[in-house]
Amino acid sequence: MRYEGNVYRPPSEGRSYILQVTIGCAHNKCTFCSMYKDKAFRIRDLEEIFEDLKRARDYYGNVKRIFLADGDALVLKTKDLELILKEINRLFPECERIGIYATPGDILRKSLDDLLKLKELGLGIIYLGIESGSELILDKVRKGFTRDEIIKAGQKVKKSKIPLSITLISGLGGKNHWKEHAISSADLVSQINPEYVSLLTLMMEKNTELYKDYENRKFDILSPSEVAVETKLFLESVNLKNSVFRSNHASNYIPLKGTLNQDRKTLIAQINEALKNEEFTDERFRSL
Ligand code: SF4
Repeated sequence: MRYEGNVYRPPSEGRSYILQVTIGCAHNKCTFCSMYKDKAFRIRDLEEIFEDLKRARDYYGNVKRIFLADGDALVLKTKDLELILKEINRLFPECERIGIYATPGDILRKSLDDLLKLKELGLGIIYLGIESGSELILDKVRKGFTRDEIIKAGQKVKKSKIPLSITLISGLGGKNHWKEHAISSADLVSQINPEYVSLLTLMMEKNTELYKDYENRKFDILSPSEVAVETKLFLESVNLKNSVFRSNHASNYIPLKGTLNQDRKTLIAQINEALKNEEFTDERFRSL
C-alpha cells in the first residue's frame, strides 16, 4: 500500500485498513503534537485515493474496518467524502465500519444533513481529539478551538447518531492546572455524552513547543501518581450515560477500562490500589 510519512490511527483501528485521504493535519499547530510536523498538509487527488482502494482490494482478502487518515480527514468536502464512501461500499461490501479523524471545525462546517448523508453511506465513527475541556489549556496548547465550539461540534455528531469517540490527554495542564484540566474536561464530556471517552497520557516529544516550555521551566510534567490523582478527579467529576471509557493506551501509567458512570467506583478503586502499591507503567515502556 502507498503511504506518505508516518501514519497514525486510534488504538481501536489497529486492525483496520488505513487509507490516507489527506496528508498531514490542516491545523498542525498544537504545542504538544509532533505527529505531522514533517508533512505539508494537502488533500489527495480522488484518482489517487481510488487507485489505493483498488490496490487494497487486490491485496486484502476480507476488510471489516477502514480508517480514513491523516490528521483530520473530515476536512474534505462532503461531496468528495461521499464519492470515497461510495467507492468503499462498491469495492468492500464486507466492510462493517468506516472511521475518521475530525477537528471541531470540520464538524461545525458540515450541516447536520451532511453528517446524516455520510452516516447513511457507512461512516461509522468519528474520532475527535479535544485534549482538554479547559478554555485556558486549550488556548495554551493552541488547539485552535474554544470549549463552546467543541461542545457544539460534539453535540452535532450526537444528533447525527454517528458514534463519537473523544480523546483527552492526562497531564496536559501540568502541575499548575491539573485540577482545572480534570474538572473542566469532565464537565465538557458530560455535556456531550459521547459513546467513547479515552484518556491518553501526555508524552513529551522533543520536537514540540511544549518540550521547549518544559526545558525553559514554563511547564512541569506530572509524575505518574499525580496523573493518577488527576484521573481520579476526572472520574469523580464526570457524569455520563453508558459511555465506554478507555485509558489503556501505551501512553497510560495505569490500564483502565470500563463503562461510565456504572464502573466509576471500580475504576477509582483500581487507581487507589495502583497509588498504594506505586504500580505504574515504567516510563521506558510508554509510547504513543
Ligand atoms: S493534535 Fe491533532 S489537531 Fe493538533 S496538530 Fe496534532 S493532529 Fe493536528
